Amino acid sequence: MVERGPGALPERADTVIIGGGIMGLSTAWNLALAGEKNIVVLDRTYLCGGASGRNGGGVRAQWSSETNIRLMKRSIALCSDFATRMRINVWFRRGGYLFLARTDERARQLEASAELQRDAGLPTRIIDRAEIREIVPELDVSRVVAASWNPDDGVVFPWPFVWGYARACAQLGVAVHTHTDVTEIETVGGRVSGVVTPRGRIASPRVVVCAGAWSPELTRMVGVTLPSHPHRHEICSTEPLKPFLRPLVGDLADGLYFSQSMRGEIVGGISNPVVPSGVDQESSLRFLGLYARALARAMPVLGEVKILRQWAGCYDLTPDGNPLVGDIDAVPGLYLLSGFMGHGFMMAPIMGELFARWLLHGEERALFERWNLRRYAEGRLLSESMILG
Ligand SMILES: Cc1cc2nc3c(=O)[nH]c(=O)nc-3n(C[C@H](O)[C@H](O)[C@H](O)COP(=O)(O)OP(=O)(O)OC[C@H]3O[C@@H](n4cnc5c(N)ncnc54)[C@H](O)[C@@H]3O)c2cc1C
Repeated sequence: MVERGPGALPERADTVIIGGGIMGLSTAWNLALAGEKNIVVLDRTYLCGGASGRNGGGVRAQWSSETNIRLMKRSIALCSDFATRMRINVWFRRGGYLFLARTDERARQLEASAELQRDAGLPTRIIDRAEIREIVPELDVSRVVAASWNPDDGVVFPWPFVWGYARACAQLGVAVHTHTDVTEIETVGGRVSGVVTPRGRIASPRVVVCAGAWSPELTRMVGVTLPSHPHRHEICSTEPLKPFLRPLVGDLADGLYFSQSMRGEIVGGISNPVVPSGVDQESSLRFLGLYARALARAMPVLGEVKILRQWAGCYDLTPDGNPLVGDIDAVPGLYLLSGFMGHGFMMAPIMGELFARWLLHGEERALFERWNLRRYAEGRLLSESMILG
């Protein structure tokens, strides 16, 4: 069936973006802001249906690679300006991130990363047990060696962030169509020529895949196999408690992380290594056990607190922990912004901006070469050791 009339899909677009999560919307908004016209965003579900509506909202510049540190420094600046610029409250609370080290080796790794962060102008410090207890008196630090502390990191509420971008897109004339599943990416002579959905076909010379964990499924439609794969990650939230916890506390060893939302809930998760790869957004009892035990060990006063909600989403994992962005050699006109692991939410504000500059003005070439899919064929794998969850 092909719809006609208001709300119908256009027959052609200059750019089609597949995925109406934070990455697709940030990209669409930045392209429109740069003067691009006829942009269409398509999402098979609703705006917060993917990982963008299922994450912990953590926003930090503590990373082990210079690229991530510098990008996130800029992304945090965009986050702190977002509410004023987009006229929506995103509850951005800069309570810091506290990464715990339970071994000397981990402490040394955190120190090496902190040095890179300081070189980039961040105030990150490695602190001892006494100082950790000053920041979070409720933590059991008996088995903690040290921690990496940046008071400028923070947490946002993910949903209004997505809605803010969606509204700003609409104001700039971007057409956002939810419940519109892309079932085919069309090519002519090897070049992208459009997309097909159950609501009709859109002809377009430019298609950007921002489909998060579903991105490999999309590129397979044109015979491109991505090295990334979906991996379920679970998260939960407790009853609201009187505000007491300032930072997000993270432990890279078991992937435990937790923070207190502006509503008072303790929101957090933990790695669950037995989860097989594949799109799966179901909740499990195993996760609750793993998380509850680790949380009560880290902060015994939370042992009695009631968990109210549990949900899951998918990380988009790449083998080297770095994203897949830019053009795809095999299919001219097809672009990618995917593979953002468990940190695509915080990266989206800056990545949308840089993608628009790269695509339209040829800027930021080094980044879009570094993170291009072709690095796998060329054996140029990267690294990032501060991936949480
Ligand atoms: C439990 C959990 C905790 C996380 N915590 C954090 C955190 O604290 N900080 C952080 O920065 N990141 C975090 N992340 C990661 C972050 O949520 C993602 O990296 C980010 O949201 C990815 O955004 P996206 O727009 O690329 O993908 P998504 O938000 O997943 O959007 C992709 C969209 O594509 C749509 N789609 C898929 N296939 C099709 C199709 N065929 N046609 C049309 N549409 C399609 C989907 O419906 C979906 O809405 C977390 C993730 C999870 C699961």
